[in-house]
Amino acid sequence: MNLLIMGPPGSGKGTQSKLIVEKYGITHISTGDIFRQAIKDKTELGYLVQSYMDKGEYVPDDIVVEVLEDRLAEDDCKDGFLLDGYPRTIYQAVKLEQMLTQLGMHIDHVLKIDVEPYVLVKRRAGRRVCMSCGASYHLEFKPPKTKGACDACGHAIVQRADDTEETAFKRLDIYLKSTYPLVEYYDAKEKLRNIHGFGTIERVFFRINREMDKYDNN
Ligand code: ADP
Ligand code: ADP
Ligand code: ZN
Repeated sequence: MNLLIMGPPGSGKGTQSKLIVEKYGITHISTGDIFRQAIKDKTELGYLVQSYMDKGEYVPDDIVVEVLEDRLAEDDCKDGFLLDGYPRTIYQAVKLEQMLTQLGMHIDHVLKIDVEPYVLVKRRAGRRVCMSCGASYHLEFKPPKTKGACDACGHAIVQRADDTEETAFKRLDIYLKSTYPLVEYYDAKEKLRNIHGFGTIERVFFRINREMDKYDNN
């Protein structure tokens, strides 16, 4: 089974993705995580994408498409994957379809998480991520067991550079302009599954499962 998850910045895509891939045993592909890792590793890709990300702007399509093409060709994608944060433009969606056709694959469901703007602000403001392994927390809603330290690896948890108030709003704006049109694109293909994103992490995951259970996912 191959899935996409979409939603505004801070809606809970990364958090739900972790739970979904665990349940279905599929591979989690987050373009945001790939870019953050590249920046941390100081690779050429990292240098290319950092200024866009810090400003809250999208990385240019040609760079993202190339990264995704390489990632999808890896073996662990053959038994199913969940794409988190890709596609973000119609161009990326069209490219994805071409790549999958070549690989003899297709997308089964597009999960769209809807959250009110004021909830998004709270989620992004309290978001903290591990500097080392990228695990994500929330000061209020998903605090680590030890204050300031990652449960998984013990390293410090910090605020993302693009979670400042100014950048956060800019990202929401870009999402509405560039990514929201994908809703219509996938709805026309009858792939769109709308998920209410308010309530606890468990509650949202329950709704995702309930939606998925409507389909035969074998
Ligand atoms: P969020 O949690 O805000 O939804 P991500 O962690 O998925 O964001 O991505 C962080 C940043 O990485 C984006 O703001 C953008 O700069 C870049 N990025 C990730 N995926 C893409 C993509 N598919 N197209 C363009 N830029 C991307
Ligand atoms: P995205 O990947 O869409 O940008 P994240 O999964 O990183 O979003 O979630 C943003 C922040 O909100 C994180 O700090 C996360 O722990 C927290 N969070 C995610 N889902 C919920 C929820 N249902 N209720 C409260 N906080 C949540
Ligand atoms: Zn960690």
